[in-house]
Amino acid sequence: MQSDMIDPFGRAITYLRVSVTDRCDFRCTYCMAEDMTFLPKKDLLSLEELDRLTTVFVEKGVKKLRLTGGEPLVRKNIMHLVRQISRHLDSGALEELTLTTNGSLLSRFAAELADCGVKRINVSLDTLDTDKFRQITRWGSLDRVMAGIDAAQAAGIHIKLNAVALKNFNEFEIPELLRFAHGRGMDLTVIETMPMGEIDGDRTDQYLPLSLLRASLERLFTLSDIPFKTGGPARYVEVAETGGRLGFITPMTHNFCESCNRVRLTCTGTLYMCLGQEDAADLRTPLRVSEGNERVSAAIDEAIGRKPKGHDFVIDRRTRRPAVSRHMSVTGG
Ligand code: SAM
Ligand code: SF4
Repeated sequence: MQSDMIDPFGRAITYLRVSVTDRCDFRCTYCMAEDMTFLPKKDLLSLEELDRLTTVFVEKGVKKLRLTGGEPLVRKNIMHLVRQISRHLDSGALEELTLTTNGSLLSRFAAELADCGVKRINVSLDTLDTDKFRQITRWGSLDRVMAGIDAAQAAGIHIKLNAVALKNFNEFEIPELLRFAHGRGMDLTVIETMPMGEIDGDRTDQYLPLSLLRASLERLFTLSDIPFKTGGPARYVEVAETGGRLGFITPMTHNFCESCNRVRLTCTGTLYMCLGQEDAADLRTPLRVSEGNERVSAAIDEAIGRKPKGHDFVIDRRTRRPAVSRHMSVTGG
């Protein structure tokens, strides 16, 4: 893939994830503390600034753009930004515009998303049990998410479900989630918990290595490794019994950095070159100092020039502090 942005390890940067807000209508226990403090609204880039910045990335070679958060659909007037960005799909400069959502507002926005050219989305869903859903999200409603999934499928949007694998919570429910996803024509990806940001509990109690999960799934299903790729870090298997695909994202047990093609932009215009490192570049200042894009383009080049080789997450009883202090909701996973 062509891109003007090549990092020091020869990796072409073609994928930008944009966290459009750090706010969320859920409080998933592994992601946030219940009394989370959010950024003051005045620190946020406006939707126009987000459009301008993403456009610079597209002009420099980004082909895939994912909106995330926090919950991207709670950002006021978010559909205005989606509509603006969709012009790059129309021009062919951008190949894919997608988002990761908790699904709570999908029934309201699904049709419009489809109309803007969004063809695939990721919906996060960790359990199919109403009470457990409330327990893990603290504030969420499973019924609303299910209605959102229905609306998105009715609008012709392909869904991939993402489930964080949590010890003593949903580890024995993954087969049910898998049958549900595949029965509805959706892929499922399971994710290891990552040590990002302070939460109310202890992450060692939640961490479930996916190697163990895979071994227990193999007692029920026939899993065959397949080379399928979506441009993300998941490794896929095909499940013979359901005919569907199951992805594993294993930042803890298997480092996936060697093929990393992405960078992450926050809603304040900070660019993170790696999910698992603190180093970042401020793009808001160069964006605001002039109306032209030369300064911000140079700042992006400088940042890509320091993209690190990879991350080094550790979760154990001795390492109680998170590997990175910011929450996943800042950079959007
Ligand atoms: N609110 C949206 C959602 O939940 O899909 C988008 C943002 S959320 C931060 C993106 C993904 O990160 C979700 O699938 C969520 O489950 C996952 N996530 C959040 N905190 C995590 C953590 N500490 N480790 C692993 N995954 C995490
Ligand atoms: Fe919100 Fe997504 Fe974090 Fe859950 S995982 S609290 S839905 S940002």
